[in-house]
Amino acid sequence: MKYIGAHVSASGGVENAPINASEIGAKAFALFTKNQRQWVSKPLTDESIDQFKENCEKYGFSSKHILPHDSYLINLGHPEEEALAKSRKAFLDEMQRCEQLGLQLLNFHPGSHLKKIDTEACLNRIAESINIALDQTKGVTAVIENTAGQGTNLGFEFSHLRHIIDRVEDKSRVGVCIDTCHTFTAGYDLVNKYDEVFDDFEKEVGFKYLRGIHLNDSKKELGSKVDRHDSIGKGFIGKDFFVKMMNDSRFDDMPIILETPDDTIWAEEIKWLYDIQK
Ligand SMILES: [Zn+2]
Ligand SMILES: [Zn+2]
Repeated sequence: MKYIGAHVSASGGVENAPINASEIGAKAFALFTKNQRQWVSKPLTDESIDQFKENCEKYGFSSKHILPHDSYLINLGHPEEEALAKSRKAFLDEMQRCEQLGLQLLNFHPGSHLKKIDTEACLNRIAESINIALDQTKGVTAVIENTAGQGTNLGFEFSHLRHIIDRVEDKSRVGVCIDTCHTFTAGYDLVNKYDEVFDDFEKEVGFKYLRGIHLNDSKKELGSKVDRHDSIGKGFIGKDFFVKMMNDSRFDDMPIILETPDDTIWAEEIKWLYDIQK
């Protein structure tokens, strides 16, 4: 069974996210547990935590199908020590917020080398950052998202994800999230080589590490290395791919999250994605 939803607003408090998700017919959702553009946010209140858990239960969301996303400021592969320490601290805070909310996944972009260190050194730093956070928390899996490879972002090749996973000590608490737009603009031809791309993923990373999907069409061409999401069926990926994916059991029982630009049609997109399942 598929668990489809969207990255919904948590404005006014995290407890509003499950309500917002339920209103669009979602069976899964993503959220920011703090302001994603600030380094520091107020701690979650007990009231907010209780209300969040209560609402998740009331609207039928299990923590397995909730995919919180960390702040965009965090760079776990930062080449400079001071900035790296700042990112590691902020990431730990994100993990701890997930712990408090009873969530088991935290999705993040791996990191950027900023042209100051090489790819391998940066990937090693990212793995070490994950180890440090996992050491100090319990029950939350670090979910690495593949990227489009824009700028100096790493994680655009499946081999990058493998390199990181190989260096994470607790393999039971590391996973990956595939973003369909990022995969496509990173150069994997989801449109013409569906089987090949996912065979490659299985070989390089392994479906056993797959914890979630970001389901986005792309405003940019294959291999463009640009991260611009489009609404489902409206971009360069197109409807046929999404029909295939929604009928592929390898993507069952995990959060499938829309990060598409027009939130006014999320309900429609979700309905269509359920309707095309045979
Ligand atoms: Zn994404
Ligand atoms: Zn993106």
